Amino acid sequence: MAFYHRDSCRLCSSANLVKVLSLASTPPANAFVSKNELDEKQDCFPLELWFCRGCSHLQLLDIVAPDILFSDYVYVSGTSSVFVKHFENYASTIINYAELDKDSLVVDIGSNDGTLLRCFKDAGFRVLGIDPAAKIAEQATKSGIETIHAFFNKEISEEIKMSFGQADVITANNVFAHIDNLEEVISGVYSLLKNDAIFVFEVSYLLDMYEKTLFDMIYHEHLDYHSVQPLMQFFKRYNMEIIKAERVNTHGGSLRCYVQKTTAKKNVDSSVSEFISMERKHKLDDENTFISFAREIKEKGQALRSLLSDLKSSGKRIAGFGAPAKATTLMYHFGIDENDISFIIDDSPIKQGLYSPGLHIPVLPASAIEEFKPDYLLILAWNFADSIVSKNKQFLNDGGQFIIPLPELKII
Ligand SMILES: [Zn+2]
Repeated sequence: MAFYHRDSCRLCSSANLVKVLSLASTPPANAFVSKNELDEKQDCFPLELWFCRGCSHLQLLDIVAPDILFSDYVYVSGTSSVFVKHFENYASTIINYAELDKDSLVVDIGSNDGTLLRCFKDAGFRVLGIDPAAKIAEQATKSGIETIHAFFNKEISEEIKMSFGQADVITANNVFAHIDNLEEVISGVYSLLKNDAIFVFEVSYLLDMYEKTLFDMIYHEHLDYHSVQPLMQFFKRYNMEIIKAERVNTHGGSLRCYVQKTTAKKNVDSSVSEFISMERKHKLDDENTFISFAREIKEKGQALRSLLSDLKSSGKRIAGFGAPAKATTLMYHFGIDENDISFIIDDSPIKQGLYSPGLHIPVLPASAIEEFKPDYLLILAWNFADSIVSKNKQFLNDGGQFIIPLPELKII
């Protein structure tokens, strides 16, 4: 089964859902292909955002099977020094907040290469990772961070309890938006957690996506667009509560929540009610907010399309810059294909030499700018526009120009 559609809210099970944003169907956003796979047509799946009238949660209901999305996952967090720093701070915040002692067990769900757990291990705690990507889990274990290769669920949580005992802290970063069956995960978390322990997770924050027009972070890996209000009701159903919420800087703006069993002892921090008022103020609990968001995106897409058409008809050559997953959503939704951009520059050696998902535009290293001398570079990784422009001054000096598509269309 490659793909299925659910018809109830992932957080509250309500069937009263309304479609607020229809994006163009795309293949999985990270499904880059090699040269010898170019003849195989890649399937496109619906990409539609639904608002729950029961709990205001925003979500995709069309689910691409996780083994298609995640088993060959190439993202490795330790490769980015910004993330390593983020995780160091993260770990020390949790160590203080959870009042850990030296026998404490820290379990990380979706532990990737073990970067976060290494910070806990270095501080003297017992650690255990769980990750569905076989290769990454194996490498993490080899590097000293024991990692179980699995999708986390109730059954795995029981196995962990048998072998390691209950956890003092469970973390889950950027996985809580990736899992269709959250009930499985949360009942596993509940049973694995000691009574006074905490569960901490980070997810991309809906308010950041909305305020910064980050619509292109909508792709099949991200099933949920979280805010505090719907999550509060969700945890309540499982006898848990959010006791603290924070905004953090990762992935264009994230939400970090601290959760405990309702029987545990920590007081609920004032940040929780502050988040709820802030979300109400921005009308995240109103479906019309997202209908206007959809209209705004459509207008921005039209502006970009007409610019590209003008440039092409005057014979200009355009290439793309940056091939993150979000570029797949942006290119499909704005109708950008190989007729608009002849290649895409990306600094990641893993992607160079491959072809973009579905559209099969070649991904090349930065040296291709010098070689092919495009007139314009369309920045697809537009949230990093400043650093891309400053790193590629030579292109500007040689007479080239950058097109930044969002949040406002701009030519530099
Ligand atoms: Zn709901």
